[in-house]
Amino acid sequence: MSGKPRLATVWLGGCSGCHMSFLDLDERLAELAGKVELAASPLSDYKEFPEADITLVEGAVANEEHLEQIKEIRRRTKILVSFGDCAVTGNVTAMRNTFGLQDVLNRSYQENAAIVVGVPSGNSVVPALLDRVRPVHEVVKVDYFLQGCPPSADEIYDLVADLISGRAPRTDGRKFG
Ligand code: SF4
Repeated sequence: MSGKPRLATVWLGGCSGCHMSFLDLDERLAELAGKVELAASPLSDYKEFPEADITLVEGAVANEEHLEQIKEIRRRTKILVSFGDCAVTGNVTAMRNTFGLQDVLNRSYQENAAIVVGVPSGNSVVPALLDRVRPVHEVVKVDYFLQGCPPSADEIYDLVADLISGRAPRTDGRKFG
């Protein structure tokens, strides 16, 4: 990497808890911020995902929009990290796989709906759900896996600090690769 590495974080089908854990780095955030250029975060407004050296992806691939996003992110990212258990295994987001898509849609949009009743159609602004929630590595190649629900701030710091320094991550018994 020449110059400061470009770091991005994104949020697909997750609860934001992994990003909250990232914020728990507190003063170490300022240290990392001085060593990277922030390419994108969940607050960024972009039409096309920016080029990034490292991207942390929180959440599973749950709908058509996520599917397009993760393929574009993979094309434009050198090192992709599956960030947290929803990204790594599907975890909480994949619990709906047990019930089947149509039952979940009926339960959400018919049985429990009080005001607007009816499953969104293909013309809806709501992205269509995939038949099955998928962990990130089922869709694109993942370079590192950061497990935990959420991963601790220390684990996030260790992995990110190593990657932006160009070091092989110190796993300390944890599985990253
Ligand atoms: Fe939320 Fe846990 Fe999933 Fe992270 S791994 S997005 S904290 S449910």
